Amino acid sequence: MRMIPGHDEIGRLTRTVEIFFIVLAALLLTVNIVRALSAGMFLHWWALPVLVIAACGADLVSGLVHWTADTWFSETMPVLGRRFLRPFRVHHVNPDDFLRRNFADCNGDVAMLNTPILLAALAVPVSSESGAALSLALMVFAATSLPTNQVHQWAHMPAPPAAVRWLQHWRIILSTDDHARHHQEPYVANYCIATGWCNRSLAGLGFFPACERLITKCFGIEPRSDERTFLDRSVRLQPDHEIQETA
Ligand SMILES: [Zn+2]
Ligand SMILES: [Zn+2]
Repeated sequence: MRMIPGHDEIGRLTRTVEIFFIVLAALLLTVNIVRALSAGMFLHWWALPVLVIAACGADLVSGLVHWTADTWFSETMPVLGRRFLRPFRVHHVNPDDFLRRNFADCNGDVAMLNTPILLAALAVPVSSESGAALSLALMVFAATSLPTNQVHQWAHMPAPPAAVRWLQHWRIILSTDDHARHHQEPYVANYCIATGWCNRSLAGLGFFPACERLITKCFGIEPRSDERTFLDRSVRLQPDHEIQETA
């Protein structure tokens, strides 16, 4: 028998803050969409390219954040370690634990991070075409980023809702098989988890291995050194979080 760590349960205060930011982000996104429609932003020739580039940008950023958290720093570092890095460590040794996280826990942090971007999109004047294009880009970036963790959770569900399966089937959002490659040895592929659109191109370019070689060369640190020791350390130091057993 071996014990596997699970996620930290969030408290009432954190849950309240998470829900506040989810509601705020949803309201800001709605206001942005109404403003974009009333300003006729979608009627310009550049609307479609801006939309595609911003959505790809959001997927790329999801990959960079995920790769950074998976690859560098230690789960034992102050503040960010427990709050930001530990969920990634737990997810790799216990992927199904992600399905136990509720809606607020799953989406609150990403909503919080996207709130300034949605405010910035509203602050940009749309009287000029360049301003309108920038505002649209920020809005689409945030709209694509907002459900990242939800999309990731759906990719782990054995039977997600029919509409989600349709979106996954047409590769509009991250598909189950696309993300499954991330959880297969050597666990270094398909970091992008918003739409998954960038995964194939980045793999073809060898983008993340090249970044890792560069960082190792510059700073002398080894990728995934913390992850390699996480399970043993977690079982030894945090017995109160050992919530599952497996053979
Ligand atoms: Zn990962
Ligand atoms: Zn996953």
